[in-house]
Amino acid sequence: MAHSAAPRTDEIWAATLHQLRSAVSDATYLGFLRETRLLGYSDGRVVLGVPNTFARDWLQRRYMDLLRRSLSAAAGREVEIQWEVIPMDGVPEEIPLPPPAGPVAAAPSGQGIGYPYDEFGAAPLNPRYTFDNFVVADCNRFAHAAAMQVAKAPGESYNPLFIHSKAGLGKTHLMQALGHLVRQRFPHAQVVYVSAENFVNHMISAIRENTVDAFRARYRRVDVWLVDDIQFIAAIEGPASEEEFFHTFNTLYETNKQVVIASDAPPRALRLLNDRLRSRLEMGIVADLRCPDVETRIAILEKKAAAEQMELPREVLELVAKRIESNIRVLEGALTKICAYASLTGEMPSVAKIEELIADYSSAVSESHVSMPEIVDAVAERLGVSPDDVRGPKRHKEVAWARQVAIYLCRELTDNSLAAIGHFFAGRDHSTVLHSYRKVADLLTDDRRVLFLINELKSQLTAQ
Ligand code: ADP
Ligand code: MG
Repeated sequence: MAHSAAPRTDEIWAATLHQLRSAVSDATYLGFLRETRLLGYSDGRVVLGVPNTFARDWLQRRYMDLLRRSLSAAAGREVEIQWEVIPMDGVPEEIPLPPPAGPVAAAPSGQGIGYPYDEFGAAPLNPRYTFDNFVVADCNRFAHAAAMQVAKAPGESYNPLFIHSKAGLGKTHLMQALGHLVRQRFPHAQVVYVSAENFVNHMISAIRENTVDAFRARYRRVDVWLVDDIQFIAAIEGPASEEEFFHTFNTLYETNKQVVIASDAPPRALRLLNDRLRSRLEMGIVADLRCPDVETRIAILEKKAAAEQMELPREVLELVAKRIESNIRVLEGALTKICAYASLTGEMPSVAKIEELIADYSSAVSESHVSMPEIVDAVAERLGVSPDDVRGPKRHKEVAWARQVAIYLCRELTDNSLAAIGHFFAGRDHSTVLHSYRKVADLLTDDRRVLFLINELKSQLTAQ
């Protein structure tokens, strides 16, 4: 787009949506904004088309200012909004899950409006991920207290703070809440939030473009470094990415800057190539987030509904909270789906309809708890050896291979440490476990038969 040309309507709307995406909740975005169209734009007048009056009233009541500001920014001048209701044919069959929460994806480059990542890979904090919006309960009390403490005295108390949990239990939310609070208390602090993946990708382009010095200098100025999803660090580019991460970590740590790390596994279970890095990660405080109980899930839904100014009967919240147990993102997704339904049809769904709407969610997330004996049995049966041999000392080829496969699956499908897995397999040490694991992992990429075998066993073991 040339600088002088006036932006086109589709560009204006794309830029506006992009801005709104991180400013409003998933429910509003998916339920209302995504269905809204920019029908026309001229002389500072914008015509927005909505599918029904419910959507129009909702947006007008809650988001008029925000909409006007975003549209004006995108259009490059003050705009006025007019509304038009254009009924759509029925409700779409499928209302998809919201995209992963957290910072929005990168805008198409060259738009210049609201581009979310800086040149070093850092992303803005999500304005909704604050301590105020975080429900504290037994499942997260310790991690919450640690995050608060760190926000009050960054670099002085727990360093690094390492937060881990399964997906969708609030790691990103908590770490960004910490970032918000630091910014509030220390307005000049450099708080940088980056996913491990982005960090590595930007590091790689810095290497390619010969700007490593600038890249490192940027990170040396950071006061609070929030690194999300560290489990990918080694997977992305192997030793080089880990090294650069380690380098940055050490530089910051040694100058008493705060490092906060989120991960889907505790440090001991991370696939790191460098054991010094692992022990550094364990040096501060390691806190986990567990699944919330049903009361907490209701409280989370209540908070979310209140933030949306949505009045949902308590029975609806209870119903959703009972059906979806193990992932708060999915829990919120179900609520979003109900709200989206309400907005598209203009009425609250009945209990039966709600059951139907959230049926996929509850079945899709019911968790599999696979144990090591189950894994051994499944592998033994599939490969035609005896379970005792799989665990025992025999070394001939078939048995050794079955053992390696079983060890691989124990590492992939259970939370057991390397040491615990080794112990289970007749007291083998953790390096043997790691060796078996890596052997299968390497074969997976080269040998399709191994890939099929592992996939088959995995789906057999995790099916309920
Ligand atoms: P993770 O990073 O662990 O995958 P997120 O931090 O992205 O999980 O959380 C998933 C969703 O659940 C987010 O929308 C977040 O706001 C919400 N959430 C998680 N924990 C809580 C909590 N204790 N109170 C309120 N909302 C929560
Ligand atoms: Mg996350």
